[in-house]
Amino acid sequence: MTNKYIYFIANWKMFGGLNSLNSLNKVIKFLKTFKRNKSIKIIYCPPNTLIEPMSKKLRKSKIFVGAQNCHQAENYGAFTGSVNSTMLKKVGAKYVIIGHSENRQTGETDKIINLKIKSALKCGLKVIFCIGETLQEKRKKITKKVINKQINLGLSKIKNRSNILIAYEPVWSIGSGMIPKHKELLETINHIKKKIRKCKVLYGGSVNSKNINQLKHIHNIDGFLVGGASQNPNKFIDIIKKSYS
Ligand code: PEP
Repeated sequence: MTNKYIYFIANWKMFGGLNSLNSLNKVIKFLKTFKRNKSIKIIYCPPNTLIEPMSKKLRKSKIFVGAQNCHQAENYGAFTGSVNSTMLKKVGAKYVIIGHSENRQTGETDKIINLKIKSALKCGLKVIFCIGETLQEKRKKITKKVINKQINLGLSKIKNRSNILIAYEPVWSIGSGMIPKHKELLETINHIKKKIRKCKVLYGGSVNSKNINQLKHIHNIDGFLVGGASQNPNKFIDIIKKSYS
């Protein structure tokens, strides 16, 4: 990978308690001595319950904290169980993942995603916007069509896209151990980059310390969104190290 900033995003999903923060010690130590530390950006996205303590713990490090989702309302309101971008920012989040397939599957529409992205950007959060096709859509060979729709609707009326990172995450690869073929992934990332010029495009879906040896050769990828493997600091560090070896 030759890009200046390589992003490594850790999505902890609904895992982790206060004692999990101890696992960050290894990553903090690793980053201090890592030769390429100036050209990488590590972002941890824990459950909301850990955003504040994690931000405090990482304050002196170069590691950032993000949330995994947000409500679309800019103001406070009667939305039981929800948290908006302002609240996330106040407790230390700098980024927020929006449009993750695990949320799309429970009814999050492109329209809602668009509102969420707008509200997050407005309050100063950077957005990690997830897109990707299902297995059925892949089999029908409509990946590009699906992605185009997700981008057109998700980013509708958002002119300034400089604070948006795109995470291409094929739904069928998340948590499955399967990754796209080299040529397919190269082509899809190219397609996204042509469609949204100047945006960084990350890959996510079953990234681990073995398949990173293949993935790192796909030169147009600007980083990785890592789910399961990011909960283990040794595996996460291994992924980062191997990306540069
Ligand atoms: C994810 O949660 O976005 C993800 C890519 O998960 P995993 O790495 O476990 O497939």
